Amino acid sequence: MDAWLRGGGLLVTASERAARSLIAAFNRSRRAEGLTAWQAPNIQDWQSFVRSTWDERNLDGRTVLNSQQEQSLWAGIVTAAAPEAARLAGARDRLAALAMEAHSLICAYAPQLLNQKARSAWDRDAAAFSDWLADFDEICRAGSMISPARLPLELSEALSQDSAERPPLLLAGFDRILTMQQEFFAAWGACTPVPLGETAPQIEFHEAADPVSELAACALWCTHQLATNPHARLLIVTLDVPQRRGEIERAFLRFVCEGGSASAASSAFEFSLGIPLSQIALARGASLLLHWLTEPIEEHELDWLLSAGQIAASPSESLALTAFMRAVRRKNLQRAKWGLAEFLRQKPGAELPAAWVARITQAQRRLQEFARRPQSPIAWAELAPQLLELAGWPDGRPLTSSEFQAHRRWLQTVDDCASLGFDGRRMEWKEFLVALDRAVNETLFAPESQDAPILIAGPAESAGLTADAVWFLGASEEAWPARGATHPLLPIAVQREAGMPHASPRLDWELADSITHRLLAAAPEVHFSYARQSEGVDERPSRLVAQFAGAPQPLNAGLAAPAIPAPLTVCFEDASRIPFPAGEVTGGSSVLTAQSQCAFKAFATARLAAQKWDRAEAGLTALERGLLLHEALHSVWSGPPHGIRSHKELLAIENLPPFVEKHVRRVFAIKMPSRARDCMPQRYLDLEQTRLIALVAEWLLYESARVPFTVAITEADANPSIAGLELHLRLDRIDRLNDGSLLVIDYKSGNVSPKDWDLPRPDDVQLPLYADFGLDSDPGSVGGLVFAKVRTGEMEFAGRVRNAKATLRSKISGNSNLVKKPLDSEQLSAWQQHISELARGFLFGRAEVDPREYPETCERCGLHALCRIQENQPQSGDDNGEEAADA
Ligand code: SF4
Repeated sequence: MDAWLRGGGLLVTASERAARSLIAAFNRSRRAEGLTAWQAPNIQDWQSFVRSTWDERNLDGRTVLNSQQEQSLWAGIVTAAAPEAARLAGARDRLAALAMEAHSLICAYAPQLLNQKARSAWDRDAAAFSDWLADFDEICRAGSMISPARLPLELSEALSQDSAERPPLLLAGFDRILTMQQEFFAAWGACTPVPLGETAPQIEFHEAADPVSELAACALWCTHQLATNPHARLLIVTLDVPQRRGEIERAFLRFVCEGGSASAASSAFEFSLGIPLSQIALARGASLLLHWLTEPIEEHELDWLLSAGQIAASPSESLALTAFMRAVRRKNLQRAKWGLAEFLRQKPGAELPAAWVARITQAQRRLQEFARRPQSPIAWAELAPQLLELAGWPDGRPLTSSEFQAHRRWLQTVDDCASLGFDGRRMEWKEFLVALDRAVNETLFAPESQDAPILIAGPAESAGLTADAVWFLGASEEAWPARGATHPLLPIAVQREAGMPHASPRLDWELADSITHRLLAAAPEVHFSYARQSEGVDERPSRLVAQFAGAPQPLNAGLAAPAIPAPLTVCFEDASRIPFPAGEVTGGSSVLTAQSQCAFKAFATARLAAQKWDRAEAGLTALERGLLLHEALHSVWSGPPHGIRSHKELLAIENLPPFVEKHVRRVFAIKMPSRARDCMPQRYLDLEQTRLIALVAEWLLYESARVPFTVAITEADANPSIAGLELHLRLDRIDRLNDGSLLVIDYKSGNVSPKDWDLPRPDDVQLPLYADFGLDSDPGSVGGLVFAKVRTGEMEFAGRVRNAKATLRSKISGNSNLVKKPLDSEQLSAWQQHISELARGFLFGRAEVDPREYPETCERCGLHALCRIQENQPQSGDDNGEEAADA
C-alpha cells in the first residue's frame, strides 16, 4: 500500500475513518524516514470518490440531493400517501428515514428492483413503499435531481460506455463488495483489493467474570502495551459503541492514565465515531435559545441554558442570571415551562442584567418581524446565526479548539437546512426549527483526530485500519456474529435473495467471519474477550472467534482490576466546630428536626441557606395543595364573623358543603399562588377547588364525632428560647378539651406517623417541640399532640393523647394506638431533654454528615451534592452495611 501511494497511485477506502487513518499512517512513515515535506497521498473514501467522479463527469447537470433534501422529499411523499400515519412530525420523519434507507438498500444490493415492474408482486407495506419509490423517481425526474445512492449505478453505465483510460484503483477496508460496487469497479477498469496480511502469530481469547472486569482488563492491557512501547498504535473494537461510550470512557480514564492529568488521559484514546451534534453543549445551547425566542422551554432546560454561561457576555452576567433564577425559586414562582416574556416580567427581588435583557429582547423583536410571514429556508438559515449573535451566543470568551469545531459544524448544519429551499418552498419559523433539530440530531460530531495511540471503533468502522495490537471486546455467542432486524418496508424474500444485512443467520455469520479474518490480519497481536455473565445472564463464548482463537482462558492476574478502587476522596476527621452565635435562627422547628435527622442537614439549611429544589410541576404541587388546605381549615376555625370556634357550633351547621364552599372559595381567591393563576387553566383550578371542598367537608364530618371541644387558637405563634437558641414557631391549631387540657394539632395531607417522634433519634420534632416549649402554660397542661390526617377516605387523628376515649373520641377502639400508647409526663420530659440537646448541638456547631437512616433520610433531603454522602458509602456489591457503619 505504501509503495502504491508513494508512486502516486489512487487508493479507495470503505470508510472516511479508514481514509483518515491511512493518511495519518502514511504521514507517520514519512516522518519516520526523516522527511520534512512529501507529496500528499491520493486516498479517498468510497462516498467522496463516487461524488468526485460524478462531479468530474457532470453527466447531465442534475442536482445531487443532500441528505436533508432527500429526507424532505420522502417526507412529502409519505405525507401525501399516508396522511394519518404521518400526522405527527416524529412519525413522519421516522417513516421518511425508513423509506430513504430502503431505497439505499435496493440501490446497493438489488438495483434491478428500481424498475417498478420488478416490484409488481410486492404486497402490503412493501407495496406501499413501491408506490412511494415510483413517486420519488417521478419527482426526481421532473426536478432533474438524483439521490446520492443512485450515483454509482448511473456512473457504472456511463463508465462502461466510456473507453477513456482511468487510473487503476487499490481498494482497502471493504469487508464485502456490494453488487452496486462490483458493477462500478468492473466498469472502472483495473481495481485490486489490498490483500489481507498474514494472520497474527499471537491470538488470545480471554474470559472475564463480567463486562466491568472485561473492560478493565482491556484498559489495563492498553496501559501495559503503551508502557512497553510508547509509540504503539492500539485498536479496540467493540460492539454498541454509542451505548457503551460512557462506561468505556470511564474505564480508560481510570486505568489508562491513572495518576496522569485529565487532558493527558483524554488524548490517550479517541473514538472513531462521533456523537450526535445535539449532545454537544454548544449546539444544545443554540437550539434552546432559538426555541426560547418564540416558545416556552422546560424549566430544567432554562436552568441549564442560564447556568451553562453560553448566553452571558461575562462571568458576572452569568452569575446575575443564575441568581435571578434562584430568587424566582425562593419566591415560589417556579413553573414547568418558561416563555421569554413571562421570565422577563418576574420581579423576585433580584434584577436581570439590563444589557442581557436588551440583547435578548432585540433578538426576539428581530425574529418577530421576520416571522410575520413564511420565509424561504435560506432566509431562516441566514437569520438563525444573526439571532444568536444578537442574543450573545456563544459567550464572549475564546472558544476551545473542540468548541470552535462544534461551532463550525453547527453553522454548517444550519447551512444544510438552507438547502431545503431547493424546491422553492417557504416555511414558518417553527417548521424550520423542527428541520434544524432533526438535522442537529442526525449529524455526528467528532473533534478532529489528535492521532491518539488508542483508537476505539465498531467492527464496521475498523475496516481498513491496522495497528500494532488489537483487542476485540464482547466476543460472546449472543453478540458475535452481530444480529439485527430485517427492513420493514422490503419483502423478506427479496432481502434474503439479495443478501441484505441481517436477512439470514448465514449472512450474519459470513459478514462476521470476514470481519474477524480482517481483524486477525490487522495486527501481529490480536486479543478477543467476552464476559461470562452479563446483566445476570450466563453468556457463552462466540463460536466464530473460538474457531480461530481456541477456547477462552481466564484473565491472567496482570489484567485484573484492583478489587477496591483508589478512594476518590481523602478522609480525615474534621473536629473543628464553628459555634452558632446565640440568637434567632430562621426555619422554625425544621432546624431541630434537621439536626435530629442529620446534623449537616441543619447546618447546611439553617446556616448556609442550602435548599432542595423540587422540579416545577404543571399543576399545583403537594406543598401548594397543603397550604391551601391549611388556609381553608384556618378560615373555618377562625371564629366569628365567618368561621366557627367550637364543636357545638360545628354541630349547629345544618348544611356543611355550602358552609365549606364559602371558605374554600375565599381562600382560593386570596391565597392561590400567582404562578397558578398565570399558567394553569381555570377549569383545572375549579376542579382543585371542588376537590378541596369535599376534603374539608369530610374532615369536619369526622370532627363532628369528637367529644366536645373548643378551639383555643389557630395559626399559633410562639418564640421560645431553647438553651439559648431562639426559634420562631407556628402551629396549626390548639384545642381545649373537655377536661381543660390542651390538644396540639398539626394538619397533614401526607402519610405521617407518630412513630417519627420516637426517641432516641426522632425523625420529626415539631409537635413535641411545640408541646414542651411553645405553650404559655406548662407542659403538664398538654392533653395530647396529634397529626390531623386529612386524606380522602382515611380521616383520622394520630399521635399521643393522655386519655383519648374521654377527651377525643368516645367511640374510639381499644386497639387504636391513641388508646394503647397514651401520652405521659415522662414522655414529654424525655422529649424536652432531647430537644434541648439538639439545640445545644446546633449552637455548638455540630455538623456531622450522619443521616439518621441511610439511604431513606437522604432520599428525602436532596443535599447529596453538598454533603457528598455517596462518597462515604461502600462501593456497590457490599450490602451488609458493615462498611457503612464504620464510615
Ligand atoms: S443527603 Fe443525607 S447525609 Fe447529606 S445532608 Fe442530607 S441527610 Fe445528611
